[in-house]
Amino acid sequence: MHSSPRPDPEPPIPPPFSPTAGAPGSPAAVRTLLRSLGLRPQKGFGQNFLVDEAILRRIVHAADLQPGDLVIEVGPGLGHLTRHLAAQAGQVIAIEIDRGIVRALRRLFQETPNVEIIEQDVLRIRPEELAGDRPYKVIGNLPYYITSPVLRLFLETPRRPSLMVVMVQREVASRILARPGDLSLLAVSVQAYGQPRLVARVPSSAFFPRPKVESAVLRIDVYDHPRFDSPPSAFFRVVAAGFATPRKQLHNALAQRIWMPPDSAPAILREAGIDPARRAQTLTIPEWDRLTRILVERRLVS
Ligand code: SAM
Repeated sequence: MHSSPRPDPEPPIPPPFSPTAGAPGSPAAVRTLLRSLGLRPQKGFGQNFLVDEAILRRIVHAADLQPGDLVIEVGPGLGHLTRHLAAQAGQVIAIEIDRGIVRALRRLFQETPNVEIIEQDVLRIRPEELAGDRPYKVIGNLPYYITSPVLRLFLETPRRPSLMVVMVQREVASRILARPGDLSLLAVSVQAYGQPRLVARVPSSAFFPRPKVESAVLRIDVYDHPRFDSPPSAFFRVVAAGFATPRKQLHNALAQRIWMPPDSAPAILREAGIDPARRAQTLTIPEWDRLTRILVERRLVS
């Protein structure tokens, strides 16, 4: 007699990690969970799992979650943060790239109806398709190798979130929070769309495995309208040109990257009310905007 082959039963998930159970535990508990799932932290995917309950609570508190909120979580990992989000938000859509982790997450959250796990590279999603017409918040302990593209993905889409609360590398947090005088392309790209604030400094001991860098949680309150009126492609072309050689005086930096009639850069900058000898890191967003509008009017950028 032949019996049809049965799939191997899935190994049991240790109880402390059930999404309805209490504290997610210690680094040792994460290690046990990974082992029981047959998984290892993938360095290439930036897998450092946050195991500090106090920090998890601060992230959720900073997101000011309401029962009707839709949250897009980037990189849920083993679901430590997801579990907190699901308890306070209306719906959580969690996007995870790692197939093994996705399988585990689907089991962990099978009885949590307001959590949907999507297996996908977050950089391939279209926020407007996921959220539809609904307002949404983006929350995540980001994989650091794609911090800037993730921020840009959600800030440069026409359907921006109302709020982002993200864990980033601490040095990147300082760059994002910089004031005129120390600005960078990254700072302008974020501050043009929202107001970033520091929520918490996070030591590497809050993660398993411990990353080599220190971290920080940022909250970005996204404006209804960006702080510039010029077309985004032109605006970022000009800003990127300015920062391509940030040590140069602005008239030289711009003329090197944007074609303009010979020796016209200083006059264009003066017309925008900007001293041509200044450097890119000192310009405010309204100044970049004024400069871009003049360059667009003259058909030098589009
Ligand atoms: N949120 C979890 C936590 O706090 O413990 C895990 C955070 S871990 C720093 C980053 C997570 O993002 C990992 O689970 C990793 O597999 C996932 N990830 C990495 N690259 C990704 C990508 N391109 N798209 C979606 N998820 C990604």
